[in-house]
Amino acid sequence: MKQDNFQTITVARGDGIGPEIMDAVLRIMEAAGARLQIEEVEIGEKVYRGGNTSGIGQSAWDSIRRNRVFLKAPITTPQGGGYKSLNVTLRKTLGLFANIRPCKSFSPFIKTKHPDMDVTIIRENEEDLYAGIEHQQTDEVVQCLKLISRPGCEKIIRYAFEYARLYKRKKVSCFVKDNIMKHTDGLFHQVFREIAAEYPDIESDSWIIDIAAARLADTPEMFDVVVTPNLYGDVVSDIAAQISGSVGLAGSANIGERVAMFEAIHGSAPPIAGQNIANPSGLLRAAIMMLNHIGQQDIAENIKNAWSCVIEEGIHTEDIYTEGQSTQLVGTSEFADAVISRLGREPKELKVAEYAKGVQLRMPRYERRKNVRKELKGVDIFVDWKGMDPNELAARLQKLNNGIELTMITNRGVKVWPNGFEETFCTDHWRCRYETTNGDNVDKKAIPQIMAKAIEEDIDIIKSENLYAFDGKRGYSLGQGQ
Ligand code: NAD
Repeated sequence: MKQDNFQTITVARGDGIGPEIMDAVLRIMEAAGARLQIEEVEIGEKVYRGGNTSGIGQSAWDSIRRNRVFLKAPITTPQGGGYKSLNVTLRKTLGLFANIRPCKSFSPFIKTKHPDMDVTIIRENEEDLYAGIEHQQTDEVVQCLKLISRPGCEKIIRYAFEYARLYKRKKVSCFVKDNIMKHTDGLFHQVFREIAAEYPDIESDSWIIDIAAARLADTPEMFDVVVTPNLYGDVVSDIAAQISGSVGLAGSANIGERVAMFEAIHGSAPPIAGQNIANPSGLLRAAIMMLNHIGQQDIAENIKNAWSCVIEEGIHTEDIYTEGQSTQLVGTSEFADAVISRLGREPKELKVAEYAKGVQLRMPRYERRKNVRKELKGVDIFVDWKGMDPNELAARLQKLNNGIELTMITNRGVKVWPNGFEETFCTDHWRCRYETTNGDNVDKKAIPQIMAKAIEEDIDIIKSENLYAFDGKRGYSLGQGQ
């Protein structure tokens, strides 16, 4: 029977090392008196193998949506066979836009080259290349669409600043690659600047992702909170977790407006599954984040302190065990026993946990901006063509001129006509730009007319992209070399 102040949560034991680390975590939470009612669901490998390519069935969805809090062990995504990553599906279907990954070192008790590291990576969780929209367009070329939206940027960046304020962090750093992706990463950076200005009490800076990742791996102490699009966040959070001591140490929270999901950042580690050697700390730290989220800070503090005692005393699983520094090598379940037997105690050297009670991070609803003036300036038509000389293609494409004219051809983004270089390597995938030569707006009817003419001329069009200006500002990139 459910008691009044108990919260029902959905739990999935997952695959690989999932069941053993989840067992350890559930035992610790129960011993700590967590006020939880557990509802278990089956997701992952068994469900995939049973013929469900999404890896999750209706009853599991119902449970998660009803309870709104989901503690999930890692699952194995079978290779090939058209199986979609369940993690991505869960995050996106449930609108879990923010992925929070605190990566802190526990020096000198866990070996790390970065004793003062304490970085939280806040990763956008729904967009970017993870939209999963991919197409093969020609024999030689496939594409993946990178989608970045203003609401997506505003939500995650505001979340990062609110998080920094709530957890008394000093600085938020933005990692992007807007020197190359001026429109997608450029939007993320622009929104970062706008929102940073609303938080004058918090320092902010921006980095290009390549040097940022290098500095994060070398001198993580210079970063505090990092906010970044999905793919970069995926990569840098694994780097940050690993250099803090072990990928087995970090937990993560996936936060949405209605539902929240908590998990370790690592995967199901099939090679070490079933051997009682995996470190349950990543999932345990995710569970601590969950307890904070549902207002059970007293239990979260008790578990965190007991865990810190175990780490301080050198009772370590294999992944963090260091000869001469660790005192006892333990398995997954003995590690859990050690935490349980230290509940109620406080660490001597590591920080005593103190979580803010009754304070919740509040996010305003996204407000759509007033409509901007949108003008059609031309069209990019993508063509599958097996020839080699762009001048020959241009001569054929100029026959389609129709109030708008062929102004440029690029191959993989590089201008090859007019005035291309022989040295430029060309594939069978050509982007052909039609615009008015005087900069006037284009009549939308011209576009299907060009397409129809192309069919008559036996030109193989793969797709088109309209070229727009928004409030007079060009909304598309130039060709490289243009
Ligand atoms: P992995 O994180 O499972 O393992 C990487 C390395 O870290 C391995 O050497 C492993 O032994 C070690 N490791 C991971 N967790 C550990 C722990 N708790 N204690 C000790 N050592 C640990 O990554 P992978 O091998 O790339 O992926 C394996 C499977 O997990 C794949 O099917 C992948 O799709 C899946 N995966 C799931 C999630 C998730 O469910 N959130 C995340 C990542 C990968």
